[in-house]
Amino acid sequence: MKRPIIAIDGPAAAGKSTVAKRVAEKLGYIYIDTGAMYRAVAWKALKEKIPITDHARVTALANRIDIRFEKANGEQRILVDGEDVTEAIRTPESSRLSSAVSAIKGVRKRLADLQRKMGEAGGVVMEGRDIGTVIFPNAEVKVFLTASSEERARRRTNQLREIGIDADVEEVAREISDRDLRDSSRSEAPLKQAPDAVLIETDSMSVDEVIDKIIALHNERISSRSTESKSAD
Ligand code: C5P
Repeated sequence: MKRPIIAIDGPAAAGKSTVAKRVAEKLGYIYIDTGAMYRAVAWKALKEKIPITDHARVTALANRIDIRFEKANGEQRILVDGEDVTEAIRTPESSRLSSAVSAIKGVRKRLADLQRKMGEAGGVVMEGRDIGTVIFPNAEVKVFLTASSEERARRRTNQLREIGIDADVEEVAREISDRDLRDSSRSEAPLKQAPDAVLIETDSMSVDEVIDKIIALHNERISSRSTESKSAD
């Protein structure tokens, strides 16, 4: 039987990557960070000096570039045309540009096609903004992960400092709220909770508690499947 697709959506800096990565490790599933793919397109556009306002050229770029996830020393890396951009795409500038890039219809179409191909066989944990609503509306496990804006700003500031970026919590809070506003108000695949997604508010939860909750949802789905298939026999 095909293993489930776990869709994890939510606003910026809600802890999706940390949680999705560990859930995938525990289950032996593939982890796909779709935000990194939008960031990769933005990074390449910046490198090639293509203005984000030139939608035709950014779309052509998205159609032409090779985006690949690879594992090195147990860590997932993202490569754009063979170049490792894992750290380069994490700067505040890349965050801002990725949100602008993600509102371009042609870019979304290309990345959506790639994401569906990566996930269609099941056994994946895919995180983003539109996974449960647009990419895999039939995903068996759907989670909408969130936290208060103060908590998210605090977490993202710490993450940036850990990778050597001097971040100011107020500025990070502004960047996050601008990005969420843009992501949830765009016409193409806006950020929103799928009606059948389970909302997890993580302010007062530890990372392990969030992971356990998602694994429990996954295991419930697996056992309800076997009950369903038994009663169909
Ligand atoms: O998840 P992350 O913060 O890395 O995503 C960067 C940006 O990519 C988001 O702000 C959003 O604009 C865009 N994105 C998207 N759809 C996804 C994942 C990310 O539009 N599925």
